[in-house]
Amino acid sequence: MTYNLEVFANDNFIIHEGLLCLNTPSKPPLQDIVKSLEKKGHKGPLILRFPHILQKQIDALYKAFKDARDESSYKGSFNAVFPLKVNQNKDLVSMLLQAGKAHGYGLEAGSKAELLLALIYADKNSPITVNGFKDEKLLDLGFMAAALGHDITLIIEGINELNLIIKLANKSKGKLPKIGIRARLHSSGHGQWAKSAGMGSKFGLSSTELIESLHLLKKNNLLDQFVMLHFHLGSQITEIYPIKKALRELGNIYAQLRLMGAHNLRALNLGGGLGVEYSQFKSKLNYTLSEYANDIVFILKNIFPKDGQMGKEPDIFIESGRFITASHAVLIAPVLELFSRDFAPSKLSLGPKNPELIEELLYLYENLNQAKALEYLNDSNDHLNSILTLFDLGYVSLQDRANAEILAHLIAKKASTFLYKKNELKRLFKEVQERYLLNFSLFASLPDSWGLGQNFPFMPLSKLDEKAKNCANLLDITCDSDGEIAFSKKKPIFLHDVDLESEDYYIAFFQVGAYQEILGMQHNLFSSPTKACVEVDDEGFKITSVLRARKIKQSLKDMGYNPDEFKEILSKKLANLHEDEAARLEAGILGFLDDDGYLGSLV
Ligand SMILES: *Cc1c(COP(=O)(O)O)cnc(C)c1O
Repeated sequence: MTYNLEVFANDNFIIHEGLLCLNTPSKPPLQDIVKSLEKKGHKGPLILRFPHILQKQIDALYKAFKDARDESSYKGSFNAVFPLKVNQNKDLVSMLLQAGKAHGYGLEAGSKAELLLALIYADKNSPITVNGFKDEKLLDLGFMAAALGHDITLIIEGINELNLIIKLANKSKGKLPKIGIRARLHSSGHGQWAKSAGMGSKFGLSSTELIESLHLLKKNNLLDQFVMLHFHLGSQITEIYPIKKALRELGNIYAQLRLMGAHNLRALNLGGGLGVEYSQFKSKLNYTLSEYANDIVFILKNIFPKDGQMGKEPDIFIESGRFITASHAVLIAPVLELFSRDFAPSKLSLGPKNPELIEELLYLYENLNQAKALEYLNDSNDHLNSILTLFDLGYVSLQDRANAEILAHLIAKKASTFLYKKNELKRLFKEVQERYLLNFSLFASLPDSWGLGQNFPFMPLSKLDEKAKNCANLLDITCDSDGEIAFSKKKPIFLHDVDLESEDYYIAFFQVGAYQEILGMQHNLFSSPTKACVEVDDEGFKITSVLRARKIKQSLKDMGYNPDEFKEILSKKLANLHEDEAARLEAGILGFLDDDGYLGSLV
């Protein structure tokens, strides 16, 4: 069972001796990493971060553009920034700045909080870009970054922002920030997240506004600061054609603005949008990273024939975030329960005499074989329905009903082992589905799965040398029926039968390192899981840092509760109890404030 790892894992993981392993020389199994964290007391869901995968993505981005530029002797430089909104967690941002240092990898900010982060943590030699709507205070923070000596470009989304910049520039005594303009293109992207461009987009300046800004810049002696033109087609662009089309449009706007006097305009910022593979079946991306880089360089090379009035070929800026961080993190959710375990043969409690239909179910179960699998499964469903009707009418007992349910389930399971070979299982998946209860919250850890139906590839960490035959329905531990990843007939995923009393079984979800952690919500007050940074070397792996899931205390504080008040209120409730009993209850109850709220083992 490979779970189509080759489609989505980008060679980061392999299967070795039945276990999912990191694809590094020492091939550490992910299950070993999880167990070693569990030994240290980190239970529940885990996010494993792999810095070597992050490094690989950053290096790949720079290499693709270096190769493309070398090949066509492109004179403009290549620059990249990480959009903080993709994942602002400190453990990740520190890893990322470290990994990008040699390339001069910078940061992109879209809010006051993010700009503050960028200003504090970015290296002075790497660029900062600022997007999104800005008030005077935010722009002022940008001016302060420039005064500190940062290479910062404020990219305006509207004329009002330019007016505010002019106002601040007139007062400023320090070094001024660079100015960029986001253009509103008529080209737009496709897909789930494509609303960021196009005439109806909420972002960017129209042609009229572009011309007006140029006049304003000229009039206020700020033309020197105007260096960058920007667009962002939207996230997870799965086809390259819209990117090429938008780039031609932007390239021509750039050329026009230069002809109109924007003498210092020298950079094109292509925003983000580089896609990652979320499909577990057929690849959904129709381009590779090197195609992306080659196409961009080729198009710009052709728009800007040698030197002349246009100056040198423009510097290229990229703000792709999803591509950089999605693959570095894997979410691990322990399986807590297989629902069908309630239907084990040992739970049958047959009397000396049973209703006719139950005797027949028993016969079907005992005599089911390859040839009769489908027929008996259908008979069993009929019988179960009849028993349920008889129960409603008061003709059979609750014990009879329980026996019938167990037998029907056992028959479905037995039939499925035969039907699996004949590929008829998919048609019958309702009867033979297995529900897996996973120790995680879909809302906290895979919000795009809940909100947008986004697929995240998943597979078990172990048993990969055994055939999995259960049509898998994944359920989370929130009290919400939307907390489910349902079995899909079109894209069936099968998981193993496991006896959780004797072995552990974990499910890994991939591509969770972009957006999920920060969009995740606190449904049922489950927080973001415990996160561990895992480095690999020739011997194996090393856990270099662990950030525990938030304590219940912290979640309650965020909701406006004061945990100190808990003690006060509780002491009144304990007043009439014996002293020892009161002390036991108080310690027991208040102890929960330091728990993270995820479940322990259920067996
Ligand atoms: C969100 C955003 C990005 C990052 O997009 P990805 O799809 O994550 O690469 C880059 N630039 C801007 C302006 C954005 O709004």
